[in-house]
Amino acid sequence: MPSYDPNNIFAKILRGELPCHKVYEDDKVLAFLDIMPRAPGHTLVLPKAAARNLLDVEADDLAAVATAAQKIAKASMAVFNAEGVTLQQFNEGAGGQVVFHLHIHVIPRKAGVPMKPPATEKEKPEVLSDQALRLSAVLKA
Ligand code: 5GP
Repeated sequence: MPSYDPNNIFAKILRGELPCHKVYEDDKVLAFLDIMPRAPGHTLVLPKAAARNLLDVEADDLAAVATAAQKIAKASMAVFNAEGVTLQQFNEGAGGQVVFHLHIHVIPRKAGVPMKPPATEKEKPEVLSDQALRLSAVLKA
């Protein structure tokens, strides 16, 4: 497996070199909205530690990401009036991974509404700002 590339786009977001619509942060985890959501509220949950994917992440970082993903899944059910939630996590190009810093997708779902295909279109920044505010408010409560 290739080694971790510290210049991947999520590493730049983690270092504050690029912006994001943050929804949650603790000492081990950062979560922000996907700029090309497959459904409203689509969130990405990352370890702060460098990890390419599930295959090289330390167990405590993985546990922290899983715990945060559960919190975000529960909050997004309420904020987006969801009826379900889909979690996705891809490993290496052959496994569907595009950005090589571990992340779990948390995607709120409604019955009968298919997810958009990946990377369909960028959401408007004002829509993402509003969604991030509402989701982070519930997560802080
Ligand atoms: P994966 O690596 O799991 O296949 O997908 C990477 C995800 O990152 C995609 O859902 C894509 O829309 C999202 N993405 C790509 N570039 C950016 C970015 O600059 N900011 C944010 N917030 N999401 C991104």
